[in-house]
Amino acid sequence: MKHWINGEDVPAETTLDVVNPANGTVVAHMPLGTPEDVDRAVAAATKALPAWAATSPQERAKRLKALAHELRERNEELAQAISTEIGAPISLARAAQAGLPPLVADSTADLAAGFAWTETVGTSLVVREPVGVVGVITPWNFPLQQIMTKLAPALLAGNTVVAKPAELAPTSMPILAAAVKAAEIPDGVVNIVYGTGPVVGEAIAKHPGIDMVSFTGSTAVGKRISVLAAETVKRVALELGGKSASVVLDDADLQLAVERTLTTAWTNSGQVCGAWSRMIVPATRRDEILDRLTKAAEDYRLGDPSEETTRLGPLASETQWTRVDNHVERGLEQGATLVLGGPGRVPGLEHGAYFRPTILADVHPDSALAQEEIFGPVLSVLTYTDEDEAIAIANNSVYGLTGAVFGEPARALAIARRLRTGQVDVNEGQFNVLAPFGGYKQSGNGREFGYLGVEEFTEVKSIQR
Ligand code: NAD
Repeated sequence: MKHWINGEDVPAETTLDVVNPANGTVVAHMPLGTPEDVDRAVAAATKALPAWAATSPQERAKRLKALAHELRERNEELAQAISTEIGAPISLARAAQAGLPPLVADSTADLAAGFAWTETVGTSLVVREPVGVVGVITPWNFPLQQIMTKLAPALLAGNTVVAKPAELAPTSMPILAAAVKAAEIPDGVVNIVYGTGPVVGEAIAKHPGIDMVSFTGSTAVGKRISVLAAETVKRVALELGGKSASVVLDDADLQLAVERTLTTAWTNSGQVCGAWSRMIVPATRRDEILDRLTKAAEDYRLGDPSEETTRLGPLASETQWTRVDNHVERGLEQGATLVLGGPGRVPGLEHGAYFRPTILADVHPDSALAQEEIFGPVLSVLTYTDEDEAIAIANNSVYGLTGAVFGEPARALAIARRLRTGQVDVNEGQFNVLAPFGGYKQSGNGREFGYLGVEEFTEVKSIQR
């Protein structure tokens, strides 16, 4: 692998091994970039900016459509790369890891026609312009999707980009670079520099030539980036951690609530920022819900990610395995009841970072299990006695990213409005690529997707006439 700067491969002196968590084998050598590599990428992005910003939104939308097409052509290659580096089941890798990014590029391109690029407000002409050179720093859980969610609106708005993928999951990036080239997006508009957070990530956050940094990742790193970016007063958009709640009312369709909560809590082995990792249920229905959860969990086969029928692969790394294992051990010591799964290596799968899908009950709302992001296939079940208590438990978090309410629709909607969180699904409500996505509280300060997602990558100029 090589850095990709100004449309060309740039070699690195040192590399970092990328490891398949299913078996510990090395699958790639990722370049370890330096601040000088970031300088080079920023120079390329700066040079490419005026011409790209001068193209029409329609032309840029056309390029995004072409990029979506090129990514679809590479679906299998992308899915194999991502499945191998983070252990995502191949079926999920094809459908979501590799399948969603072209959808994001397409749906973002479709916004070009209706976006308010210029508006007349009284005597003023209000113009939306690109922010400039945008630094993009992303996590490993959905490596290509996280980049595309920023790249697509940034490009549509006329910005150029310097992207740094996560160390654990860089292997889809050369395929993205090939797709960008094939889509005839000019050289220098998209640049990729690989490396560690403390070296390349911090160089991006601090860089005086970068006008905005858009970050997705942990809350701790988001805070660090904000501090570093403050020195140059660059714009910072943060998409951070979560500890989202699924609230089940006493008149809910319990089977629907159970199935949807498990899917959201365990997809990608629970390594999803918006995972509903807390299920808040009426105390009177606790036993019935635990029974239903245990039965529904039988559909989640843990195994080799390359097999079509696998629903859960290994965690993305051994570090992640140890973190999740420690969380569950500590939760049990603090009094949670083990309903399913549990800590320790999985018999027959000791060769990889496999963790059993786990359900814990009687979790105290203030305990670490209920408060800290685990980022593994671990569902905590908490009980309440009345509606106000259910809402108080759901809102008892420093995070506020997603959530759900199951129950009679009007009652569920009223409760959804009282949750301090950026997204809520009510009953069958599904993820909508046009709806703004982002966090309240320490889950972040930006919004991705839809018009707000494009707006985030624009500057506003008022011209009085
Ligand atoms: P992370 O914060 O450790 O790393 C994310 C990225 O930041 C990586 O590219 C990393 O190299 C870089 N980084 C690390 N230290 C840095 C520093 N000091 N300066 C600049 N960059 C630095 O997160 P992760 O472990 O890769 O991903 C998991 C986290 O991401 C979870 O907390 C999860 O909730 C969050 N996440 C949030 C969303 C969202 O949309 N809100 C989506 C996915 C993941």
